[in-house]
Amino acid sequence: MKNVLVLGAGQLARMMDLAGTPLNLNIKAFDVRTDQVVHPLANEHSYGDLQTGIDACDVITAEFEHISHDVLAKCEASGKLLPSSEAIKIGGDRRLEKALLESCKVANAKHVIIESRDDFDNALNTLALPIIFKSALEGYDGKGQWRLKDIAQADAIWQDMQQFVEQANTSVKQGIVAEQMVPFDREISIVGARSRTGEIAVYPITENHHTNGVLSVSIAVNVDPSLQQQALEVFTKLTEKLDYVGVLAIEFFQVGQQLLVNEIAPRVHNSGHWTQQGTDCCQFENHLRAIVGLPLGNTELIRPTAMVNILGEDSVPEQVLAIPGVAMHWYNKQKRAGRKMGHINICAASERQLAEKLQQIAGLLDQQAYPDLQQFADKLEHRLA
Ligand code: ATP
Ligand code: MG
Repeated sequence: MKNVLVLGAGQLARMMDLAGTPLNLNIKAFDVRTDQVVHPLANEHSYGDLQTGIDACDVITAEFEHISHDVLAKCEASGKLLPSSEAIKIGGDRRLEKALLESCKVANAKHVIIESRDDFDNALNTLALPIIFKSALEGYDGKGQWRLKDIAQADAIWQDMQQFVEQANTSVKQGIVAEQMVPFDREISIVGARSRTGEIAVYPITENHHTNGVLSVSIAVNVDPSLQQQALEVFTKLTEKLDYVGVLAIEFFQVGQQLLVNEIAPRVHNSGHWTQQGTDCCQFENHLRAIVGLPLGNTELIRPTAMVNILGEDSVPEQVLAIPGVAMHWYNKQKRAGRKMGHINICAASERQLAEKLQQIAGLLDQQAYPDLQQFADKLEHRLA
């Protein structure tokens, strides 16, 4: 029995617990909103404060990267934190992330770091429109982003961003990264694990579809070996540079046959939720195996699998569950517009059958709540035709 403390008490900690219990791992979660250690499934009960949680565990990990640096420092000081606070901080600050990509010579979107009006003007001069501006800290689900398509909007965006930076209540100074918009063919990601001994196991690359800046569908089917190889090389470079331990996700833009890194996440990732049904050892289990020092599990795709996010809804028609190969994962959260409430994993014997099942599910779900699902299902069917 080993005790693991997860920083963050959301759905990722919950799913780590569900995957770790059969391995005799005892998972607790630190809720940063209440400063209390809680059970990851039944958040009510408290086991004490952070220091109590640190003392009682063998390993500390994180389910998200936007953690205050004081908390990270306390955890690092215990010698139990994996991945390191450095890796977590890089994932939480786009400026550090860009610096890492540059130092590893990993291809990414052309960008300028903005700290002053001069930097902003420099970005307008060196990057072609459209430009996307992203907050350096605390960006997630497309939040803290501005898109400049028409130069006439530049001043308005500058003022808005300046106000945003000044009002930020962050322990490190908030900033902005300007990025060239990439005319990508599609978005993909790779999720993989690196063990304490440097062993690496990555899952097949996954195609991701976003709706209003939030992931809506991920699909894992047979992959193009050259893209898989490119993604693996980037994964290896970055994790070796950081001496990373645990699961890491890398989001890419695919342009032709080239992959450009969009961002990295030093944790289990929404685009890896399909691994719960599409592989023998899901990302949550592999993350735990990596940090507690167990051998990594098999990451091969065992059957074509798709994941559909449930955003802002707290029920789905029961007929969805009647479809063979469908698994529901609810997060036990209060309903709120746009909130990630759960996901549906859909497995099939072949890609064609997966496309058929997605069509079936798109027909059962409310079109307004899942606006792009039908289109995605059509696209997949069309590609296979
Ligand atoms: P999340 O945490 O959900 O991954 P995020 O808020 O961290 O999102 P990004 O992943 O950087 O933000 O951006 C969200 C989405 O916006 C991307 O998945 C992509 O669809 C689009 N996007 C971001 N940057 C660019 C870019 N440079 N060119 C084209 N599209 C972009
Ligand atoms: Mg992203």
